[in-house]
Amino acid sequence: MFLIADDDRSIRQLIVAMLDEIGVSDVKEAASGVEALFLVDQYPDQVEVMIIDLCMPEMDGIELLRALAERNFSGRLVVISGLDKSVLRGALEVARMHPLNVVGALPKPIDLIELTKLLQRTVNLTGKADESFRNLQLDDLFDAVMHRQIKPYYQPLVDIRNEKVVGIEALARWEHKTLGMIPPDIFIPMAERKGVIYTLTNLMFELALKDFQTLKLLGYPLQLSFNLSATLLNLHKLPDNLLKQVEKYEINPEEVILEITESFGIVNDREAMETLSRLRLKGFQLAIDDFGTGYAAINNLLNMPFTQLKIDRSFVTDASNNEVAKTLLESCLRLSHDLELEVVCEGIESEEDLNLVRRFEGTIAQGFLISRPKPFKELVRWLESFDSIVKGSDSK
Ligand code: C2E
Ligand code: MG
Ligand code: MG
Repeated sequence: MFLIADDDRSIRQLIVAMLDEIGVSDVKEAASGVEALFLVDQYPDQVEVMIIDLCMPEMDGIELLRALAERNFSGRLVVISGLDKSVLRGALEVARMHPLNVVGALPKPIDLIELTKLLQRTVNLTGKADESFRNLQLDDLFDAVMHRQIKPYYQPLVDIRNEKVVGIEALARWEHKTLGMIPPDIFIPMAERKGVIYTLTNLMFELALKDFQTLKLLGYPLQLSFNLSATLLNLHKLPDNLLKQVEKYEINPEEVILEITESFGIVNDREAMETLSRLRLKGFQLAIDDFGTGYAAINNLLNMPFTQLKIDRSFVTDASNNEVAKTLLESCLRLSHDLELEVVCEGIESEEDLNLVRRFEGTIAQGFLISRPKPFKELVRWLESFDSIVKGSDSK
C-alpha cells in the first residue's frame, strides 16, 4: 500500500493520479502527520511506500519521521518539501540517524517529470511491476541453483580521474526457461528468506572467480566486486570458506571487494561485526553498498572495517537536475573523503551525472552510461574495445 501524507489536497490528488498512471491503485491519503500515523498503526506492515510532505500543521514531517522510526517503520519514504535546502538536509539527516529508508526527496513546486520518475522507481523497488514472478516457488529457485541457471553478469567500474577500468561487479542473473531473465531483486530476498542464499552465493562466487582468473590471464589487473548478503555474516565459517575459494583460483583476497548492503542490523550485531573484521584480516576488501538508503549512523561507520563506500544510485542518477539529490550526493562524497574511504558512484546514466560526480571529486563511476551489466564473453569484448579507445585517445 502507498500512503500520501500532505495537508494540501490538490497535491494528494495529483500524486494519486500519477500513481494510478503507473499502475498503483492501493493508495491511502492522510491530511496530517497524526492521520498518517493512525493509518500506519491501523495497517501494520502494509504501508510499502510513504510520501511525506515535510511542512504540515500539527505534527510536521520531521516529527513524523521520528515517530515512524520509533515504530521501526520499514517501508520506503519519499520526502517532499517547499522549504529551503537546509531544512530538507536536516530532515534527511534525521532520517539517516534513524532506521528509516528514504529513497528520494523532491523540492516543491513539484516537477511532474521528476515525481513520475521517482514514483516509478519506488514501484520497481517494491516489485509491483513484476507480477509474473509472483508465483515462483522455492523449489524453482533450488532447482535453478542446482542446475546452475544462476550466473553472474558483470558491470565495469571506471576511475574517473584517468578513465581506466579498475574493476568489475558480479551481478546475479537467473535465466529461467519460461520466464526469461529474472532480476536479483526478485530472487535474492527469496533466497535469503528460505535459506538458499549460502548455496547460491557459493555458486556465484565460484563462477565469478573462474571468470576473474581468466581476465587475469588475459592481462587485466582488475578488482572483483562481489555482493554478499548481510544474512551470511552470522556464519562463523564464512571467512575461511571464501578464502579457500579464492585460493583455489590463485586469486589474492586483496583483489576481491565484498559488498555488503547498508542495512539495518549490521552495525548493531556483534557477530556480524566480528565476521567483517575477520574477512578484513584475511585480506578481503569490504564495501558498504547502497550507501544512503539504509541506516548507519555516521559515527558507527567510523568503527567499521570498510574500505570502500558505494553511494546509492538514487542520489546519483539525474542528480544534476535535482537539488536535493545533488546536496545529498555532495555530503556523501564529503563524508567518504573524511573517512578516507574509496568512493564509488553507482547509477551514472548520463554525461551530466558523470560531470557532476567529477566536479564533486568523486573517484569511481559505475552505471549504464559506461556499460550495462553483461555476460562474461561480452564483457571481454567490451574491455578490449574500451582499451583501444583509451589507448587511442592517449596517443593523440
Ligand atoms: P547493487 O549491488 O547495488 O548493484 C547495482 C545495481 O544497479 C545492479 O542492479 C545494476 O544493474 C544497477 N545499475 C547499475 N548502473 C545503473 C544505472 O546507471 N542505472 C540504473 N537504473 N541501474 C543501474 P541488479 O543487477 O538488478 O542488482 C540489484 C541488486 O541485487 C544488487 O544491487 C545487489 O544488492 C543484489 N545482488 C545482485 N547479485 C547479487 C548476489 O550475487 N548476491 C547478493 N547477495 N545480492 C546480489
Ligand atoms: Mg553491489
Ligand atoms: Mg548498490
